[in-house]
Amino acid sequence: MCACRRLHGPARAARGALAPAGGARGQGTGWRGHLVSGQSLSSSGPLRSDFFKDLESHFAAMRKKAKDALPGSGWSPFEINPNLPPERADIVIVGGGVVGWSIAYWLKQRERVREGVRVLVVERDPTYSQASTVLSAGGIRQQFSLPENIHLSLASAHFMRNINEHLSVVNQDPVDLQFNHSGYLFLASEEVAHIMEKNYNTQRYGEPLRGSWGGGGGGVQASSSLLTLCFRQAGAKVSLLSPSQVKGRFPWINTEDVALASYGLENEGWFDPWTLLNAFRRKAISLGVTQCFGEVTDFKYTTNVMMTADGEYVDMKRIHSVKVQMPNSLEYQPVECAIVVNAAGAFSGRLAQMLGVGLGPKNSLSGVPVPVEPRKRYVYVVHCPDGPGLDTPFLIDYSGVYFRREGLGGSYIAGVSPQEVGAISGLVWTSHVLTLKGEHLVRPQVEEPETSDLEVDHQFFEDKVWPRLALRVPAFEKLKVTSAWAGFYDYNTFDQNAIIGMHPAVNNMYFATGFSGHGLQHAPAVGRAVAELILDGNFQTLDLSGFSFRRILSQEPMLERNIV
Ligand SMILES: Cc1cc2nc3c(=O)[nH]c(=O)nc-3n(C[C@H](O)[C@H](O)[C@H](O)COP(=O)(O)OP(=O)(O)OC[C@H]3O[C@@H](n4cnc5c(N)ncnc54)[C@H](O)[C@@H]3O)c2cc1C
Repeated sequence: MCACRRLHGPARAARGALAPAGGARGQGTGWRGHLVSGQSLSSSGPLRSDFFKDLESHFAAMRKKAKDALPGSGWSPFEINPNLPPERADIVIVGGGVVGWSIAYWLKQRERVREGVRVLVVERDPTYSQASTVLSAGGIRQQFSLPENIHLSLASAHFMRNINEHLSVVNQDPVDLQFNHSGYLFLASEEVAHIMEKNYNTQRYGEPLRGSWGGGGGGVQASSSLLTLCFRQAGAKVSLLSPSQVKGRFPWINTEDVALASYGLENEGWFDPWTLLNAFRRKAISLGVTQCFGEVTDFKYTTNVMMTADGEYVDMKRIHSVKVQMPNSLEYQPVECAIVVNAAGAFSGRLAQMLGVGLGPKNSLSGVPVPVEPRKRYVYVVHCPDGPGLDTPFLIDYSGVYFRREGLGGSYIAGVSPQEVGAISGLVWTSHVLTLKGEHLVRPQVEEPETSDLEVDHQFFEDKVWPRLALRVPAFEKLKVTSAWAGFYDYNTFDQNAIIGMHPAVNNMYFATGFSGHGLQHAPAVGRAVAELILDGNFQTLDLSGFSFRRILSQEPMLERNIV
């Protein structure tokens, strides 16, 4: 018996007519020859009316035989897998994390004809055991250095504040994100205080992007003068604090080596990532999105040689179908589609490689890889009865060590990204960001943990996290690690920023990946932007064209200094 089965159109059509309760499946011609030998399907009269009864008894006998042959196994070769995806969809989203489901929601929310776009979300892990979304720290902040990231945060915060206007479903409980309003407090050393000041100016008064960035799903393009006004009036609310102001507000912080701090006054805090993911999923499904638990393991695509405007010949790929492998099985289903969205998080680079992306000759379009890979990050839960109280910010030390309160009972979560080898201490408060030295881009070497599993390195806490925590907050000298977990950053090795849009060598795969530690908070706004790109052909409300592959082709990184 062949375990690898693929349902073809006729067989799937046949199963509706032929399947008794519980279903039956097989491939086209196999039914007749094998199961009802000696009888003709075209016969009429009593033979025809008995046909279905006979068929059912044949099935019952064969099911029993199969079960007897496989003791203890619940698997039956004639059960229809209810999770099989449809044979066709207009848009297949690979990855059912927060980004994938946000895009699915926005596609349906913005479709012009009801049920006009068939959207399928394919997720390989129903338990989400390795998804970045559910393993994240759940934080949202406005304190970035790039206007794009600030705008994304503002738009997402607006969305979350009004989440039930967007994601409530009739007859279901309202969404409660369990939002903790609490500012991020970034601390800067003397060496980086000027960068903090520059970031503050961008956050407070920076240049607006094209389009409206508030709530609402309308694709209205406002004039740039109006937008400048909007941004000035409603820019990120951040304040700069001197060390003594920090001490006055948070007396438990050691400010000896702190030169400046920036503190978020609104739109910052943390929330439950699982609730956000599920709220997007629940709403998207209510709007008609189909979900399937299976793994995309391959694509069917064609390659055409095309000439660019510069007279250069390039190989352009076009995907025709995705192959969805069912869980714990060799069974698979191809899904024909017009568009694929790569929202596979830390594994989106790998997904692109299935199309040969990045594997072509150097200096060719197909040789441009998707620079996204999993990077393991640890989160430690500590208990410290004498630690800071309710008014604890999400503190980011300039060493990269962070912590925030977890609940109200003296627990905190803390962590740090691995240190650069040979980094100049205090140059930036992020531990792995690219730094510009004169004309040259310095790509620091980083001691990264290996990524074959999500085991936690407890020594890392002892060596890298605790000493810095205790230095910053003396009360943390006495604490107990109560639990810990690890998750994968969807890490963009090129510039630690999102990659949004199409790869130049594949003309129907859109990317939304590479967020490197800030994808959860940006998911609501990114979903809308990607839906606009697909349905309208360009960004309507937030111009994120800076995040396209073009910067990778031209080797011009968009450096975000505030990566935690
Ligand atoms: C420790 C940690 C702390 C973080 N803290 C924050 C924070 O405070 N704030 C913030 O904004 N962000 C944070 N992040 C980052 C954030 O979690 C991610 O950027 C974001 O969740 C990315 O969402 P996603 O949907 O793209 O990825 P994921 O949630 O990983 O979803 C991708 C999904 O794709 C599926 N998939 C992959 N390949 C396939 C395939 N071939 N077929 C089918 N399915 C596939 C995976 O199973 C996965 O469920 C943190 C991340 C970590 C690890």
